[in-house]
Amino acid sequence: MLRILFILAIGIAVQATAQDFNLQVEKMNGIAYADGVDLGKKLKMNMTWQSEAGILQIGNSSWALGSAWVNLKDTSFLLQAVVKSKITSKQSFWLPLPSSLRVFEKLLNRPIEYDSASAKIYSKPTKDLWSVNLDSKENGEVVELKLSKPFVVETFYTKPNYLLRINGLVIDSTMFSDLAKKSSMISRVIPIQDKQSVQITLVIKDNCEGIELVKKDEGKTLQVVLRKKHYETKAASSSSAAQGSGSKKIKTIVLDPGHGGKDPGAIGYNSYKEKEIVLAVGLKLKSKLEEKGFTVKMTRDSDEFIELAKRPKMASDWGGDLFLSLHCNAIEGKERQQRAEGFTFYILRAGGSEEDKAIARRENQAIALESDKKGKMEISPAEWIILDNQLALYAEKSALLAGYLVESFDGGSIRKVQKGASQAGFMVLVGAYMPAVLAELGFITHPNDATYMSTEKGQNEIAENLAKAIVNFSK
Ligand SMILES: [Zn+2]
Repeated sequence: MLRILFILAIGIAVQATAQDFNLQVEKMNGIAYADGVDLGKKLKMNMTWQSEAGILQIGNSSWALGSAWVNLKDTSFLLQAVVKSKITSKQSFWLPLPSSLRVFEKLLNRPIEYDSASAKIYSKPTKDLWSVNLDSKENGEVVELKLSKPFVVETFYTKPNYLLRINGLVIDSTMFSDLAKKSSMISRVIPIQDKQSVQITLVIKDNCEGIELVKKDEGKTLQVVLRKKHYETKAASSSSAAQGSGSKKIKTIVLDPGHGGKDPGAIGYNSYKEKEIVLAVGLKLKSKLEEKGFTVKMTRDSDEFIELAKRPKMASDWGGDLFLSLHCNAIEGKERQQRAEGFTFYILRAGGSEEDKAIARRENQAIALESDKKGKMEISPAEWIILDNQLALYAEKSALLAGYLVESFDGGSIRKVQKGASQAGFMVLVGAYMPAVLAELGFITHPNDATYMSTEKGQNEIAENLAKAIVNFSK
């Protein structure tokens, strides 16, 4: 059974290969005509010539001299001009372009284009599949298909075969020919084209522990994300090796007061603004840490708008040893605003509860204010793969730092929410190659939290608690 399937795949694969060729084209009364016999041959169609009736049969179509109608099985198709014969040759059959090509498209079920400049015919099954790319990362691979429009896609995974069925797509199978060669996780790629759909089977190697299909670009980009096995174990051992080589002294601390400028952050109780509270706390924390001998850098020390992605990059450029992003939590709805209170310290990690994800989305909204970007608020599964390296190396230390922060805040004026620490996809932590935590200091929408965070006393105490945790962490 398997063998039959494979032979079938080869047969169809050959048929689905792209063709292009030159045609003999003549202009008559301003209309381009192609030699029908020539065209039929080059498209590898069966032809029958009924000379007396003046009819040329090409595949399932009949073309009659002097007629603009082509008969196709049970329908008729109207050409832009009549089929002509040239007096010099009785057997010549000239078909008007480009309308005749539409008939061949129906016969062959694939796009056929005519380029008048080069008098070339392109028969490209690749019209809707623009590219196939493989991106290899240390921790996995991403196979990316770019399509002309969204298609209905189904996937089936029966180890070791991962099957991707795309309805209505016609492909050029040669586009997949070197995919397996380039990949370290796919041993073979079998594209099977039929009239309704294309089935692309990826035969997956043992080193893969999970596959996920990600749609981007409103479905026009498909990413098959392959996660490599044993990666975490390897990364964990390398991170513990790094720890073993003597824990790095914390010298430079990067403080990141969230939002700023045109982005006020959350606006809460009594119209307090998140961007003002976190800047005030950040400045106080800076002087406290400097008193203790740390070098402190700030992503902003005034009311300034800074793109999310720039913040961790600044931290890395400064050679930071610790990144702390300061924020205030917020919630919608009057009743919930009375109830939701407390601090939470977040590290960057996939997963997290729905509430955590919602908080991350809200904090990621600043991206919508960045002029050149569309509002992308979530980290995609493919991006998580790419991030894994950073996560594996720093998640442990970040979690440790979050632990010290919870300990230092516990029992203070702002209450602990559940465990006080959690994880989610905060964009501002992406690319910080150092232990990194995002602090939701308290709920700006809660009367007590907001009032406390807005006072000089509250801000000083918060800064004091943050400094204490950092000192403990750096010991
Ligand atoms: Zn914020």
